[in-house]
Amino acid sequence: MPSTLIKNGTVVTAERTFAADILIDGEKIRDIASSLPAEQASRIIDATGMLLLPGGIDVHTHLDMPFGGTTSCDDFETGTRAAAFGGTTTLIDFAIQPKGTKMRDALDIWWKKADGRASIDYGLHMIVTDLGEAGLEDMDSLVAEGVASFKLFMAYPGVLMVDDATIFQALGRTAKNGALICMHAENGGVIDVIVRRALAEGKTAPIYHALTRPVTAEAEAVHRAIAMAEIAGAPVYIVHLSSEDALNEVRAARDRGVPVFAETCPQYLLLNIEEMQRPGFESAKYVFTPPLREKHHPPKLWEGLKNDHLQVVSTDHCPFCFADQKSLGKDDFTKIPNGGPGVENRLQLLYHHGVNLGRLSLNRFVELVATTPAKLFGLFPRKGTLAPGSDADIVVWDPNANHTITAKTHHMRVDYSMFEGFTVKGNAKVVMSRGEVLVDDGSYLGRPGRGQFLKRAARGGAWN
Ligand SMILES: [Zn+2]
Repeated sequence: MPSTLIKNGTVVTAERTFAADILIDGEKIRDIASSLPAEQASRIIDATGMLLLPGGIDVHTHLDMPFGGTTSCDDFETGTRAAAFGGTTTLIDFAIQPKGTKMRDALDIWWKKADGRASIDYGLHMIVTDLGEAGLEDMDSLVAEGVASFKLFMAYPGVLMVDDATIFQALGRTAKNGALICMHAENGGVIDVIVRRALAEGKTAPIYHALTRPVTAEAEAVHRAIAMAEIAGAPVYIVHLSSEDALNEVRAARDRGVPVFAETCPQYLLLNIEEMQRPGFESAKYVFTPPLREKHHPPKLWEGLKNDHLQVVSTDHCPFCFADQKSLGKDDFTKIPNGGPGVENRLQLLYHHGVNLGRLSLNRFVELVATTPAKLFGLFPRKGTLAPGSDADIVVWDPNANHTITAKTHHMRVDYSMFEGFTVKGNAKVVMSRGEVLVDDGSYLGRPGRGQFLKRAARGGAWN
């Protein structure tokens, strides 16, 4: 592969911002310094006026995922392409162990989904639904194969939910094998009772999805997850944290020195329960779990990001088309497939609403979307930063590009946007993955199948 020189840009890492050129040799960054000689390179990219960011890492996506009788509508081809357009060059998706089967079989199924389709690099978490006889040993073998994180559900009884004994055993195992447990923290038993009561009262509209999942059910589960992790002596990572109440639990534990980490998503930062009051069935577009919250929560989440009570912004990208998938729940909100699209818009939204509006520094932005995700999930320093020896996953970011987010032009294979009509300033101009240009000023040069499975290292959760 020819070497590339990116000239005259401003390099941004989690620690600093400085003017420099970047020399890429094959798939790796060879050098970062001012005024690197152009004759070393066979191709030159002029980045005058541009920021050079490490490629984004989205640690929470659901591509080609079966749910409620249908399947999320982006597969690894369309999902990774859309991610690249938005400046994300690494995904960590979730393989799901069907109850009563071996986790290893689920890994094969997900490799098959990604193989020949992914255009950016990807890792996999394993969703544990059943520890069975040999589940704990299976966890060790998965860690050895680079699946260094497991997700467990405290919600969705009868489908994905596991009991506290299972969670505690899994946490105990990761205290030894160094994997990181990701928790979907909502009290599923309580929510299930509230949901059945609502349906019995004829409350079937989409808004009841939100009204039957109280913030206290999230905060309680976060508290319980942290308590179990503490007893087990293991770190824990809370996925898609949505409320101030849950955030307070994370902050209290971190203040005590417990290794608890948490992510939130753009939808919880930028939308609120008012979206659920749209007329007719339209609010089904915003049916995901946890649900959108009252207006006072998002400002608290922004503060949490700034003050490191929250460490990561992911998307929980799980798209279902409005026309023929969300409509499965037309007469019953419990049948609406849960999830929303977002993998393409994460950097745009966080840059604009975070950096431009003064809520986050540029370095903190990079830390939230790339560096900490890489560290926690065993990819650092190969991914998540700009440094000699790291993969040349680089986003040439135009801080002055104006962009309107709309389903008319987005690249996700879904017929609506949760952020329809949002205008942002700042967008990816050139996106490189391992030295290859995938996106060049709106044109797509990537190809399905070039993305590699990333074997991730354990002990990411011990990094700080
Ligand atoms: Zn999810």
